[in-house]
Amino acid sequence: MALRNLLLIAAVSCSAHVAQAQPASQPAENLVLVMIDGLRWQEVFTGADERYMTNAVGKVEKPEPLLARWHRGTPEERRETLMPFLWSVVAKEGQIFGNRYKGSTADITNGRGVSYPGYAEALCGVAEPVIKDNRHIVNPNPTVLEFLNQQEAFRGTAAAFGSWQTFRFIFRAETCGFPVDDGNGAFTAGTGSPELAVLNRLRTEVPYRWPGVAFDALTVNTALEWVKVNRPRALFLGMGETDEWAHEYDYARYLDAAHQADAYLRRLWEFLQSDAQYAGRTTLMITCDHGRGDLFLKDRAWGDHNGATPGSEHIWMAILGPGIQPLGERTNVEPITQSQFAATLAATAGLDFSSAQPRAAGRIAEVLGPRPTARP
Ligand SMILES: [Zn+2]
Repeated sequence: MALRNLLLIAAVSCSAHVAQAQPASQPAENLVLVMIDGLRWQEVFTGADERYMTNAVGKVEKPEPLLARWHRGTPEERRETLMPFLWSVVAKEGQIFGNRYKGSTADITNGRGVSYPGYAEALCGVAEPVIKDNRHIVNPNPTVLEFLNQQEAFRGTAAAFGSWQTFRFIFRAETCGFPVDDGNGAFTAGTGSPELAVLNRLRTEVPYRWPGVAFDALTVNTALEWVKVNRPRALFLGMGETDEWAHEYDYARYLDAAHQADAYLRRLWEFLQSDAQYAGRTTLMITCDHGRGDLFLKDRAWGDHNGATPGSEHIWMAILGPGIQPLGERTNVEPITQSQFAATLAATAGLDFSSAQPRAAGRIAEVLGPRPTARP
């Protein structure tokens, strides 16, 4: 009798422990994809580039303060200075791909090197020939968020936030069945809050520096507050300032935008890890839509990106969450492509994206190892 009670207590406390700790083999219950527009792999892996801080191609008037802020003796120190959250948390607890200096390549397959084709490839798993540029055509393919929003475990819980008008077309806002914030004007979907009301006032009053593109502060703060109030399980967050400042060849502001994007990622992740719904049950994938040129590939081209600018095809991707081995910066691994990201994200939740998009590239085997157990 006594032994039986002991076993019973052991069984109860064991299952209680499992419920709290969420074993690594358990599929993720929340999926978050963050894309930082046009942030080059070069800065992600080697930090600020001294050449652009001391040279007219970076439009830098006073190099000294910029060098003091960002320049360090090694690539490792420089990248952690620029993106401290990515390198102290994501790259330690998860994995990061795309350091071409270390035998890890990540590339687009759409051949365009511009934003809409890149977002579409990452979100839909295919390089779609009809999406040639940033023209406002409705995406012919469902995004992985649309797929998730129709799965039983995620039904009706997707939401997308981005600083760019084109996201309405990328996500098929009219028909996808979940809220899409394109960063322009007030965002009124879902349950509001006093903070969202203030943000909406700012979103209608702060002028736009670039046509159709909001400052990231307005979009990201809206997304973070909306998540707390409305609790989505499949979330997209797109930040755009890195790309806009780079197009202006303003290296100082490009670096500021990258550093701020990293701070937003930290704020997002720290909230998720402090909340019972998300803590230990959330995949975070971070990537970009395209690369950009390089000083040594084509003069002055670091700020440009397109099919004719070499380097625009090179990207990077980081991922962490339950079931993802903490292998850190990946070196000497199989090449990965942007078309694999949708299937990889879905796979961390035990879902097979190819059921929605048979043409989608398969998941990245390196991330999860053997096929994860399916959802019960
Ligand atoms: Zn651009």
